[in-house]
Amino acid sequence: MSQLFSKNTSGSGADPETASAQTAHNGDEFSSNPPLMTEKPPVPFPVGPLDASRFKSMMLSEKSTSEQGPPAQPTFAIEESTSGSPPISDLLTDIYQRARALNEGALADYIPELAKADPHAFGIAIATTDGQIHSIGDARTEFTIQSTSKALTYCLALELCGRKHVFSRVGVEPSGDPFNAIEFSPASRRPYNPMVNAGAITVAGILCETLGYDAALDLVLTRFSDAAGRQLRVNESVYRSESETGHRNRAISHLLLSVGAMAAPPEPSLDLYFKQCSIEVTAADLAMIGATFANLGENPVSKKQVFDFAAVRDTQAVMFTCGMYDYSGNWAYDVGIPAKSGVGGGIMGVVNRQLGLGTYSPRLDVNGNSVRGIASFKMMSDALGLHAFDLTNTGSPFIGAFFKRNQT
Ligand code: GLN
Repeated sequence: MSQLFSKNTSGSGADPETASAQTAHNGDEFSSNPPLMTEKPPVPFPVGPLDASRFKSMMLSEKSTSEQGPPAQPTFAIEESTSGSPPISDLLTDIYQRARALNEGALADYIPELAKADPHAFGIAIATTDGQIHSIGDARTEFTIQSTSKALTYCLALELCGRKHVFSRVGVEPSGDPFNAIEFSPASRRPYNPMVNAGAITVAGILCETLGYDAALDLVLTRFSDAAGRQLRVNESVYRSESETGHRNRAISHLLLSVGAMAAPPEPSLDLYFKQCSIEVTAADLAMIGATFANLGENPVSKKQVFDFAAVRDTQAVMFTCGMYDYSGNWAYDVGIPAKSGVGGGIMGVVNRQLGLGTYSPRLDVNGNSVRGIASFKMMSDALGLHAFDLTNTGSPFIGAFFKRNQT
């Protein structure tokens, strides 16, 4: 674990091949031929980049394709009965088996309670914006949300205080440093972004200053639960473990206090931060929270408007550029899905207007991201054409309607 979360010397913009080779795992999951399980042959699903002919066959099987104008955003193989591609359960089984073969990485142990997780646990879940959920493995096993909470609290701060105020307190630039770096941007004298600890502790500070500690904690628990669609709770042992050993986070808060980026006293903000990180979720919860983001802030099952939709847009933008720590550039390039990871082993992804994705596997790479989670996301993105800049971006019905109106 000594290498875990150490400074990545490859720098942002490094060649992705070289950069992935420098991580603790062997990098095989990023190649176009992921390692196969030897004991059981995987279900044949065409995992790998979506090419034009597969794309066309999927689009032909899409029910909502219109004769005039561009087709609506495809929903791909989520319906079990699509004619042009295997069912989603086959895809999930195949991806699960391939990613489960990866045993690199280590449990986070700098928070002692996290080292008690089952290293073999692994689950994947996909939730659609029309309320379906598909999952495999330990998708209902609870673990603590950790840094994935940062995306949600940032969204709440934007709603509560407006983007101008929040931007004046926390930037939106990738830091190029580990998530727990004791630093701020010397140019702006504020944290680089809300997805690293310095930024998230400042966001917790904004919530506490605006609402007071009790109401802020209440808001966090209520909205996280509304997004997941079930009542979530703080894991008290993890919370105590974090609080007792959170010396780095205390150092960060005192540094921010010294430059005027945080108000005194920092302790309530830190406490809120430790509690938000200790909320228990499952991979299925992360998928549903992701689907709530994807559905413009409305939970697709309960139909409750959980997040402000303008804040959801800003949050996804920062997830896309900063959500995977020092791996964010490689992630945007290879996976292309706004996402947020946590050292508990979870990753939440958002495919705007379509899907939420959640994975859980607690073995982490040097950047603090789940090894199997990264591999699963890469395979899901390739197989379903989920990359933001993939050839499946066939045009928005809104733009089509706009141009049609302006022609008449
Ligand atoms: N609670 C953890 C910390 O502050 C969150 C870090 C993470 O998930 N990357 O270190």
